[in-house]
Amino acid sequence: MTTNPVLENDLKATIRTIPDYPKPGIMFRDITTLLGNPRAFRRAIDELVQPWAGSKIDKIAGIEARGFIIGGAVAHQLSAGFVPIRKKGKLPYKSVSVAYSLEYGIDEMEMHDDAVEKGERVILVDDLIATGGTAEGAVKLLRQMGAQVVAACFMVDLPDLGGADKLRKMDVAVRTLMTFEGH
Ligand code: AMP
Repeated sequence: MTTNPVLENDLKATIRTIPDYPKPGIMFRDITTLLGNPRAFRRAIDELVQPWAGSKIDKIAGIEARGFIIGGAVAHQLSAGFVPIRKKGKLPYKSVSVAYSLEYGIDEMEMHDDAVEKGERVILVDDLIATGGTAEGAVKLLRQMGAQVVAACFMVDLPDLGGADKLRKMDVAVRTLMTFEGH
């Protein structure tokens, strides 16, 4: 599930790349420039939800923090609810947590334990997928609560890092709008 080359190039032109941020060797793909462009933001959200237009999606789960911005817009567009997946210790109510791998070490993410109901159809949203460690943790958390993870959507894919393939191996459909080579 990728998008057409003309649209991909138009959207890629709105992403700002910052070399060596936050550390040497990383090309940081900054989506704030896409979000700040009214046409690109609308177009990207329309394109992201296109496969599910008209189908029943109960909830959108967004990963802190850029996944909240994109996930909120996607939830509105699909008339779905929104569920925040946050870093440990940020949510006020009873939560469930899962450990996930980062480049160096592990961290934990959490979701309220009543945020999804058993059998609900959920789409996971974040800005970018790299190694897939973050998204894999979120899929596990949602499945642990009985949700049916229909798909995972990202504006940007870094295919060299294998994250999208990792999710596909977990039987999650993956939709991305743009790919960039390297890290
Ligand atoms: P990963 O768990 O390796 O798939 O990393 C995904 C998370 O890290 C996402 O929430 C991204 O926002 C962030 N991220 C990882 N690599 C980059 C990058 N090159 N540019 C911008 N954000 C990144």
